[in-house]
This record gives sequence, structure tokens and C-alpha cells, in this order.
Amino acid sequence: MTTSLPNIMDLSLKELQQTMISKGEPGFRASQIHQWLFSHHAQSFENMTILSLGLRQKLAETFAITRPEMIEHHESIDEACDYPAKKILLKLSDNSLIESVLIPSTDRMTACISSQVGCPFQCSFCATGKMGLRRNLSAGEITGQVYALNNLITAKEPGHTLTNLVFMGMGEPLLNTDNIIEAIETLCTRNYRFSLSQKRVTISTVGVIPEIQRIGKSGMKTKLAVSLHSADQQKRESLMPVAARQYPLKELAKTLAEYSAITGVPVTIVYMLLKGINDSLEDAKLLARFSRSFLCKINLIDYNSIINMSFRPVSNAARDLFREYLVDAGLHVTIRKSYGTTINAACGQLATTVMPLNRNNL
Ligand code: SF4
Repeated sequence: MTTSLPNIMDLSLKELQQTMISKGEPGFRASQIHQWLFSHHAQSFENMTILSLGLRQKLAETFAITRPEMIEHHESIDEACDYPAKKILLKLSDNSLIESVLIPSTDRMTACISSQVGCPFQCSFCATGKMGLRRNLSAGEITGQVYALNNLITAKEPGHTLTNLVFMGMGEPLLNTDNIIEAIETLCTRNYRFSLSQKRVTISTVGVIPEIQRIGKSGMKTKLAVSLHSADQQKRESLMPVAARQYPLKELAKTLAEYSAITGVPVTIVYMLLKGINDSLEDAKLLARFSRSFLCKINLIDYNSIINMSFRPVSNAARDLFREYLVDAGLHVTIRKSYGTTINAACGQLATTVMPLNRNNL
């Protein structure tokens, strides 16, 4: 149903409190409404029986309750497991489209969440970057994705639920920090629907230095992943032109050293191996040098081919050599399994189905 009323799901808790006070209601009503919206998943104000009839009517005249609407979902067929990776296409209240991914593994069910419609960073290997930035998602839209993905799990197996979140979908989360913090706080609120531990939430960034500093000092217990992809400044600029120029490696290393010293939590350095570009032993040596100055682990990932892009994944043998060099240098290295390649749901692939008209421009 289309409505011209503002969407209450887009209000932060603070804005909700201000709204209640402006309506002559006590501030705690905001917390009650917030819980109905974000934990009980109320579909209408009528359901909020804890509120007086008058307030429910007032709210219904002032606001709509609109959540992201699932348009379609696809299952990956390349995983021989009970829960194959799933990608969902969601429509937002202004008809913008975003994608989110459900990633299964033996002991967890991870939701890969988008934080922006598009992305301004234009990384050369990424389909989302080709869209440009349309807008940030509200905190309500971010949590709405989590509910939509969780509904897919419970539809198949009632009682099962998401266990982990990664902000690694469309967009750069640390260009939308206020809203991702609000969404994380909601999803991690004790006694709310998900009650997730913040330790199960990972924020993935290309290295937005001031926001990494902010998260580091905030006391949040979330994990941080930094997409590095090259420890050579020039090479990084060719792969990630906007981010690498704005946040040079030298300052990034210093920031990550401060971050890990404050939080005591290792940073995950994400490194996507691209054949003939960043996969030589010289590249491994630079990566080892970069990573030695702070508490971290390195996560090597394979490139997933995207239509009209010339990048190629490395062979298993080349990846093993690269890994061995890092391990011999005393670093903790993991290799991330790639999920969802058959549905274009793997790293850097989101947006290829959302923006079909852009495919010619990729
Ligand atoms: S890799 Fe991340 S930061 Fe770079 S363009 Fe894609 S979504 Fe944006």
C-alpha cells in the first residue's frame, strides 16, 4: 500500500523520543513503540496494545509502518549443504532496490547486509561501485534486511535464526556510521528479537580513517574488517581509486594500530587475490610488512568473476604460495570460502541484478 505519511521505521530512537515529547507523551513511550516495531515486528499501530487507543490513533494518522519488501530471492546451487547461500532483492519505500545475502556455514548463519543504495567509492573490481551512490539506508532499512533474511530461515526451519551479521553488502558502512550504529544497537538490544552479541557483528570498510577512530573509541564490541587488496599505495590506488587516495596506507596502518591497541581485538585484513595484479611474492612481502605493525589476521579471498570485468581469480597453487609466505612471516592467515557465486552473491557482485541497465557500463 502506498502512503504519503512518513515512515516511522526511519526514525532513530532519539527522534522517536522527541516525537513523543512533542505529542505530550512521556519519553519512555518511545522505547515501548521501538520495541513493538523492532522486536515484535508490529505491522500496524493497532497491534501496539500497550499504548492507549488515542495514542495509537494519533500515530496512525501521523506515520506509516513500511519495511523493505522482498521482491525475489535466489538460492545458490553450488553448495552441497542444507542451507545454500541465498540472495534477496529488496524494494525500499522510495522504490530503491538493494540486495542482501544469507551465508551458511557449519556453525553459523550469517547475514551480509547493505548499508547504502550503491556506493561512491568506485573500486574497480566491484559491481556496486559502478552504480555510484544513490543514498544511505536508514537504521530501520538496515534492520529490515535482517528480518527479511531471517524470515527465509524460519520459513524453512522454524526456531532457527541468524547468528552473525557482516556489513559487507552494497555500500561503505562507515559512510553511514550513525545509522549502522543505531541498527546494531537495536539488533543487539537485550530481550529484543535477535539479542545478538556485538561480538557477532563485523563492520567491513575500505578504511575510512576518521570513522575507524570513532568506532575504536566508542566502546562498541563489534569486529572490524578492512578491505586492503594491496599494500602498495600505487597499486591500491589503481584498484580502489577513491578510498586509497583519501586514506593512504601509511595513515591507515597507524589508525589500525591505534584501533587494535584501544579495543584489544584483532583487525581482519581482507585481501582479494587478483591474478597478475596483487598475487606476487613481492605483494605478499608488502602485505606482511603492512600487517606486522598491529594486531590482525589476514583473510585471503578469491575473486568472483563479474561480467565485463577483466580481473581473473588466482589458481589454488598461487594462493597457497601467497599464504605460505605470510604464515612463514608469522601472520595468522585464513582463506575465506566463496559463497553464492552462481547467484552473483559473492564479494563485489551485488548490484549486478539490481541494476541490469548498468551491466553495459560495467
Ligand atoms: S568494494 Fe565496497 S567500497 Fe568499494 S565500491 Fe564496492 S561496495 Fe563500495
